[in-house]
Formats: sequence, structure tokens, C-alpha cells
Amino acid sequence: MTITDERQPGAPVVSLGMPLVGGSHERTQGHGTSGLATAESDDRSARLAAVRAGDVGSVHSWELVTAVDGPGTRMTVFLSGCPLRCLYCHNPDTMEMRRGTDVPADELLGRIARYRGVMKATGGGLTISGGEPLMQPAFVKRLLRGARAMDIHTAIDTSGYLGSHLSDEMLDDVDLVLLDVKSGDPETYRRVTGRDLQPTLDFGRRLAARGTEIWVRFVLVPGLTDDVDNVEAVASYVASLASVSRVEVLPFHQMGRDKWTELAMTYELEDTQPPTPELVERVRDQFRSRGLRVY
Ligand code: SF4
Repeated sequence: MTITDERQPGAPVVSLGMPLVGGSHERTQGHGTSGLATAESDDRSARLAAVRAGDVGSVHSWELVTAVDGPGTRMTVFLSGCPLRCLYCHNPDTMEMRRGTDVPADELLGRIARYRGVMKATGGGLTISGGEPLMQPAFVKRLLRGARAMDIHTAIDTSGYLGSHLSDEMLDDVDLVLLDVKSGDPETYRRVTGRDLQPTLDFGRRLAARGTEIWVRFVLVPGLTDDVDNVEAVASYVASLASVSRVEVLPFHQMGRDKWTELAMTYELEDTQPPTPELVERVRDQFRSRGLRVY
């Protein structure tokens, strides 16, 4: 089916069909973009203009979830593209923006409007995840504004590495940030992600200073992020952020392994085992000992 975005003639657009199972930093997704009717265009300049304006974004997938990615029943939209290269990434197919599918913001906002009733009834809303959503700030801005105009609760799931892309004006439309703090030690952070820790620390502090609610996520990988001192550094930092209301310690698993193989990417955690229940409790206790609410 060919669909034309009336605001940007010629721009490649996609109509969302059936709900899809998506994948965040910790979950894996199974159905990719099946169910989406796509339309491609050779008009690259029109597409670029639409992307720059935030009218169109590169979307990996979306799903309806309950008690995941924020409170209540939520529509989680997974955007394509990420500047990090986490060794444990469960969805490496979200790393490259070019692998996504162009979707108009209005298409997603129309879908949100359809589910508004259940979102309001359950205290749910919209979560924008990825990949790294802040690779596409104009698109994120449009989605946040549109959701806020419908009085829908909004959340962003981010590593914080591109936190500077989220303006104060955009933050006015954000109710909750799911902040992935992947390590407390800068060297470990670089080993895990290939990037610097500092932008994430700065972003968390900025959120706390504004009073924006934060849920922190920490992926526990034996032999990589489980060092006592590394966890202490994360816990110490998180405890210093007054607006953190929840910490989620997420045990590493191997469910994303096959994707690395399919993409012909080198997967370094082939032999890494999930953490034992004892290790998970030790790490959760490290957070709890700081008075944090831990899951
Ligand atoms: S932040 Fe890391 S885990 Fe999340 S999508 Fe990017 S590379 Fe994957």
C-alpha cells in the first residue's frame, strides 16, 4: 500500500498495522517490522526535510506493554539508531538507523489516541525507546508534544549519552526518564559501550536538578559489570539523584545472541552465563543499602 504524507509530498511513509513485539535495551523483539505497510520514495530531499522537521522518524518497532517501560499500560515505540555499541545489546538490529522504517509522527500519535482510554485507565502512557531515541530529537519532540496535548503520560528510555539533545523545552513534556546507567567506573563503561560515561552522569544530574522522575536501569553482566566497586560507583551516583524513584537490576541473558550472528557482528559474550540468584541479590542489596527502592 502506498501512502503519501500530505505535509511532505513524496516522503516515504509507513502506516502502522497490527501491534508488534518490540525490543528495548533489555528485552528482545521477535517480529521486527512485520505488519507494517511500507512505501519508499526516491525523493531523498523530501525525506530529509520530513526527518529534520520531525514529521517522519526511523522506527524499529512498537508494542503495547503493561508494567514494563513505565507505569500502567503503555505504547512503547522503539526508534532506530544508537551511538553506543554495548557488548550485551539484545537488539543490535536497532543500532543502525538505516535498518529502521520511516513512520510519520502523526501515524504514531493516531495510534496513541486509539489507546488513550486504556492508558488513562491504567495510569499508563507513551514510552519512547530504542536504539537511542535521542538520535532523532525532532521526531521525539513531536511525539512528546502530541502525547502531552492528549494528556498522556510520557517516558523516554535512554542511555543519557545524548542527553544534551533533550532541550529543557522537550523535558517539560517528559514525565519519566528510564535512565540506563551501564557502569559506574568510566573504564568499564567504555569497555561495555565504546563511549564515555560522563554525558550520562551529567544528564542524570540535570534531570535531578529539574525534579524529573527517574527510573534507573542497570544490566548485571558477570565478569563485565558485576565488580563490587563498579556497582558501588553506580549505587553512589544513583543515590545522589534526589528524583530517582526506582532502580531495576536486570540480569544479563543470552536471548539476543542469535541476532549478532544474523547481522555478522562479533559477539564477545558468547561464553558469558546469566548471573546467579545470589549475585543478583548481592547487587540489589548494594543499591538497597543506599535506601533505594530496588527491583
Ligand atoms: S544503548 Fe546499548 S543496549 Fe541500548 S540499543 Fe544502544 S547498543 Fe543496544
